[in-house]
Amino acid sequence: MTSRVEELCIRRGLKMTEQRRIIARVLSDSQDHPDVEELHLRAARIDPKISVATVYRTVKLLEEADILERHDFGAGRARYEELSEQHHDHLVDVKTGRVIEFRNEIIEEEQRKIATRLGYRLVGHRLELFGVAIEPSNTKDER
Ligand SMILES: [Zn+2]
Repeated sequence: MTSRVEELCIRRGLKMTEQRRIIARVLSDSQDHPDVEELHLRAARIDPKISVATVYRTVKLLEEADILERHDFGAGRARYEELSEQHHDHLVDVKTGRVIEFRNEIIEEEQRKIATRLGYRLVGHRLELFGVAIEPSNTKDER
Protein backbone atom coordinates (compact mmCIF):
# COMPACT_ATOMS: atom_id res chain seq x y z
CA MET A 1 0.00 0.00 0.00
CA THR A 2 1.24 3.49 -0.84
CA SER A 3 1.44 5.85 2.12
CA ARG A 4 0.13 9.41 1.96
CA VAL A 5 3.62 10.92 2.05
CA GLU A 6 4.84 8.53 -0.64
CA GLU A 7 1.85 9.50 -2.76
CA LEU A 8 2.89 13.17 -2.48
CA CYS A 9 6.49 12.27 -3.35
CA ILE A 10 5.35 10.51 -6.50
CA ARG A 11 3.14 13.44 -7.44
CA ARG A 12 6.12 15.79 -7.01
CA GLY A 13 8.17 13.51 -9.25
CA LEU A 14 10.65 12.38 -6.58
CA LYS A 15 12.47 9.14 -7.24
CA MET A 16 11.37 6.62 -4.64
CA THR A 17 13.88 4.08 -3.39
CA GLU A 18 12.83 1.32 -0.98
CA GLN A 19 14.38 3.21 1.95
CA ARG A 20 12.65 6.43 0.99
CA ARG A 21 9.37 4.55 0.84
CA ILE A 22 9.92 3.28 4.38
CA ILE A 23 10.77 6.76 5.66
CA ALA A 24 7.69 8.13 3.88
CA ARG A 25 5.54 5.48 5.56
CA VAL A 26 7.00 6.27 9.00
CA LEU A 27 6.23 9.95 8.44
CA SER A 28 2.67 9.18 7.36
CA ASP A 29 2.16 7.07 10.48
CA SER A 30 3.55 9.72 12.84
CA GLN A 31 0.92 11.62 14.79
CA ASP A 32 3.54 13.67 16.63
CA HIS A 33 6.46 15.92 15.64
CA PRO A 34 9.50 13.62 15.56
CA ASP A 35 13.08 14.77 15.05
CA VAL A 36 15.51 13.00 12.69
CA GLU A 37 16.80 10.74 15.46
CA GLU A 38 13.32 9.57 16.39
CA LEU A 39 12.40 9.05 12.72
CA HIS A 40 15.54 6.99 12.30
CA LEU A 41 14.59 4.80 15.29
CA ARG A 42 11.16 4.16 13.80
CA ALA A 43 12.47 3.52 10.28
CA ALA A 44 15.23 1.20 11.54
CA ARG A 45 12.57 -0.96 13.17
CA ILE A 46 11.34 -1.71 9.64
CA ASP A 47 14.75 -1.79 7.92
CA PRO A 48 17.81 -1.83 10.21
CA LYS A 49 20.03 -0.90 7.26
CA ILE A 50 18.59 2.63 7.05
CA SER A 51 21.18 5.13 8.29
CA VAL A 52 20.62 8.42 10.11
CA ALA A 53 22.27 10.15 7.13
CA THR A 54 19.66 8.70 4.76
CA VAL A 55 16.83 9.82 7.02
CA TYR A 56 18.40 13.27 7.28
CA ARG A 57 18.77 13.61 3.50
CA THR A 58 15.26 12.31 2.80
CA VAL A 59 13.65 14.63 5.32
CA LYS A 60 15.52 17.60 3.81
CA LEU A 61 14.38 16.61 0.34
CA LEU A 62 10.76 16.32 1.48
CA GLU A 63 10.97 19.66 3.22
CA GLU A 64 12.23 21.31 0.02
CA ALA A 65 9.39 19.65 -1.90
CA ASP A 66 6.83 21.20 0.51
CA ILE A 67 5.72 17.80 1.75
CA LEU A 68 7.09 18.23 5.26
CA GLU A 69 7.08 21.18 7.57
CA ARG A 70 10.08 21.82 9.81
CA HIS A 71 9.66 23.26 13.28
CA ASP A 72 12.09 24.62 15.79
CA PHE A 73 10.62 23.99 19.21
CA GLY A 74 13.64 25.34 21.01
CA ALA A 75 15.53 22.18 21.91
CA GLY A 76 18.15 22.78 19.23
CA ARG A 77 16.90 20.09 16.88
CA ALA A 78 14.48 20.34 14.00
CA ARG A 79 11.17 18.51 14.32
CA TYR A 80 9.00 17.49 11.41
CA GLU A 81 5.40 16.90 10.48
CA GLU A 82 3.49 16.41 7.30
CA LEU A 83 2.40 19.73 5.84
CA SER A 84 -1.33 19.92 6.52
CA GLU A 85 -3.96 21.81 4.54
CA GLN A 86 -5.43 23.03 7.81
CA HIS A 87 -3.02 25.45 9.47
CA HIS A 88 -2.38 25.03 13.19
CA ASP A 89 -0.09 26.44 15.86
CA HIS A 90 1.82 24.70 18.65
CA LEU A 91 2.23 24.85 22.39
CA VAL A 92 5.42 23.25 23.66
CA ASP A 93 5.68 21.87 27.18
CA VAL A 94 9.22 22.95 28.07
CA LYS A 95 9.58 20.26 30.74
CA THR A 96 8.46 17.19 28.83
CA GLY A 97 8.91 18.35 25.24
CA ARG A 98 5.31 17.41 24.54
CA VAL A 99 3.79 19.39 21.67
CA ILE A 100 0.11 20.31 21.63
CA GLU A 101 -1.56 21.54 18.45
CA PHE A 102 -4.18 24.26 18.54
CA ARG A 103 -5.96 26.72 16.32
CA ASN A 104 -7.53 29.95 17.46
CA GLU A 105 -9.65 32.02 15.07
CA ILE A 106 -9.20 35.23 17.08
CA ILE A 107 -5.40 34.94 16.80
CA GLU A 108 -5.68 34.12 13.09
CA GLU A 109 -7.92 37.13 12.51
CA GLU A 110 -5.77 39.51 14.58
CA GLN A 111 -2.67 38.52 12.63
CA ARG A 112 -4.45 39.24 9.35
CA LYS A 113 -5.50 42.63 10.71
CA ILE A 114 -1.96 43.48 11.82
CA ALA A 115 -0.57 42.59 8.41
CA THR A 116 -3.29 44.62 6.64
CA ARG A 117 -2.64 47.62 8.89
CA LEU A 118 1.04 47.40 7.93
CA GLY A 119 0.10 47.23 4.27
CA TYR A 120 0.48 43.49 3.72
CA ARG A 121 -1.64 40.54 2.76
CA LEU A 122 -0.78 37.74 5.16
CA VAL A 123 0.44 34.56 3.46
CA GLY A 124 1.69 32.67 6.50
CA HIS A 125 2.84 32.79 10.08
CA ARG A 126 4.46 30.73 12.78
CA LEU A 127 3.34 30.76 16.38
CA GLU A 128 4.91 28.69 19.11
CA LEU A 129 3.87 28.97 22.73
CA PHE A 130 6.20 27.63 25.40
CA GLY A 131 4.76 26.64 28.74
CA VAL A 132 4.89 24.56 31.88
CA ALA A 133 1.85 22.58 32.95
CA ILE A 134 -0.13 24.19 35.77
CA GLU A 135 -1.57 20.84 36.86
CA PRO A 136 1.28 18.28 36.63
CA SER A 137 -1.15 15.35 36.66
CA ASN A 138 -2.59 16.62 33.38
CA THR A 139 0.60 16.11 31.44
CA LYS A 140 0.95 12.87 29.65
CA ASP A 141 4.26 12.57 27.85
CA GLU A 142 3.48 11.31 24.39
CA ARG A 143 7.02 10.52 23.36
ZN1 LIG B 1 1.77 20.31 14.30
